[in-house]
Amino acid sequence: MERKAALLDIKKVSQSRIHEVDFNNLPFGKVYSDHMMYCDFVDGEWQRPQVVPYGPMQFDPSTKVFHYGQAVFEGMKAFKDDNDQVWLFRPERNFERINKSSKRLAIPEFPKDYFFESLKALITLDHDWVKKGQGNSLYIRPFVIATEKGVAAAPSTSYRFMIITCPAQAYYNKAVKVLFSEKYSRAASGGVGFAKAAGNYGAQFYPTNLAKEKGYEQVIWTDADKHEYLEEAGTMNIFFRINDKLVTAPTNERILKGVTRASVIQLAKDNGIEVEVGPVKVKRIVEAAEKGELKEIFGAGTAATIAQVTGFEYQNKYHDLPEVENPYNVFFKSKLQDIQYNRTEDPHGWRYAI
Ligand code: PMP
Repeated sequence: MERKAALLDIKKVSQSRIHEVDFNNLPFGKVYSDHMMYCDFVDGEWQRPQVVPYGPMQFDPSTKVFHYGQAVFEGMKAFKDDNDQVWLFRPERNFERINKSSKRLAIPEFPKDYFFESLKALITLDHDWVKKGQGNSLYIRPFVIATEKGVAAAPSTSYRFMIITCPAQAYYNKAVKVLFSEKYSRAASGGVGFAKAAGNYGAQFYPTNLAKEKGYEQVIWTDADKHEYLEEAGTMNIFFRINDKLVTAPTNERILKGVTRASVIQLAKDNGIEVEVGPVKVKRIVEAAEKGELKEIFGAGTAATIAQVTGFEYQNKYHDLPEVENPYNVFFKSKLQDIQYNRTEDPHGWRYAI
């Protein structure tokens, strides 16, 4: 069935694939919901967004994104409450961030009304793909790729903005062991670390594989100059609890401005937990661990919400973290999820109704 909504065109699937999906056994990012959105930038303008059945697309082999990685993306989630209402969590921040990322990659910014109208149309159509219950969500992946044909190393003149969505259960639901990076880095000053540029992620796979061979799930990246400061994990910002104080790095041109990070900082303030936002020396964390003052490390990001870290390796030495009573990581995860699933008040207006 085809119809025109105010800002976009919608072509529905003739038959949903939802009955083929085992929602209790979902590998992350493998199963996509019925519809997707695309919107092309041609002749200097974003065209009308198109909501269509999910499926493959054809591109010329010379298409610029394949050669120069001119691509950015976002990661968001939709949550369903007990009354079947679907909510997004602070989506304005993702909208602002994708345009900031685009700007850095010389990609034209995307219009706000197209972004929000497309999300609403897609999630309304695929409402049944958002499952209720703790840990269940619809992961939303907006992204932009350079679509001009031709291998000349210059910014593309055409782009495709897309949104695909996939049902997700808790992502990193188990605690992780991490390696503090001493050699590789993720981002450098003047670079693209603050952007969700596709290439930032591709470049992490090799050093992360090396860490995995040593038994670590994640790398905590350190500054590219001297590897003296702890910056962030691959897809999460990172928090350290020293005694009762929460410590985290400031966001800057190398560190992604995480939505979960900002929310944890606000929740800490709301709940009387002291937060220090400032450069985090590796030495300080290692010393705190040795003195027994390092109580917790956890990652904060949309995919995992909060991921507890059970220990870290630095300079070939493994530091186990203690078990603590009333851990902050559990506290923040439940506070965030209570807001996301509409189980509590929303004093800061973080929920966005679909
Ligand atoms: N850092 C990096 C490098 C990331 O890719 C992500 C995931 N977007 C985060 C931090 C966490 O950001 P958010 O809380 O907005 O998901």
